[in-house]
Amino acid sequence: MGTKAIETLDMDVDKLLELLNKAFADEWLAYYQYWIGAKVVKGPMKEAVIGELLEHATEELRHADMLAERILQLGGTPLLEPKDWYDHTECGYEVPSDDFVAAILGQNIKAEQCAIDVYKKLLTLTKEGDPVTYRIILEIFEDELEHEEDLQSLLEDFELLRKKS
Ligand code: FE
Ligand code: FE
Ligand code: MG
Repeated sequence: MGTKAIETLDMDVDKLLELLNKAFADEWLAYYQYWIGAKVVKGPMKEAVIGELLEHATEELRHADMLAERILQLGGTPLLEPKDWYDHTECGYEVPSDDFVAAILGQNIKAEQCAIDVYKKLLTLTKEGDPVTYRIILEIFEDELEHEEDLQSLLEDFELLRKKS
């Protein structure tokens, strides 16, 4: 950022960078959780579930990219060590040791609900002091809302299917 641009930031930039890096760690873990979930998942509606999981994986990776770009613009450094993701993550990582569709969907729904909370807080924090970050976070937030809805509707279809059989 240029010097005038930095002057316009009306907030604690170090604190913001810390939170953006936490979200960055979350996005990489979310990416991997979707990606590996799509590999191991088993059960009815498997094909539809795999399609959605892979689509979301791609979107989480895009979120990681957007956050890294903004962290760099703000003069920070995106986490350079994958092992640091575990120390910084807010939403964590759930090992998909149960590969049944309903279990995988449930884990990912929980992760999305955590992400929604994280981005809602970041929206409140940046709304006044950093409108550029706010706009980026809003775009990610909208994706996470859609992710939750997509997964919940798949789980709903799965429950209907189970009742009928
Ligand atoms: Fe995301
Ligand atoms: Fe998501
Ligand atoms: Mg989707």
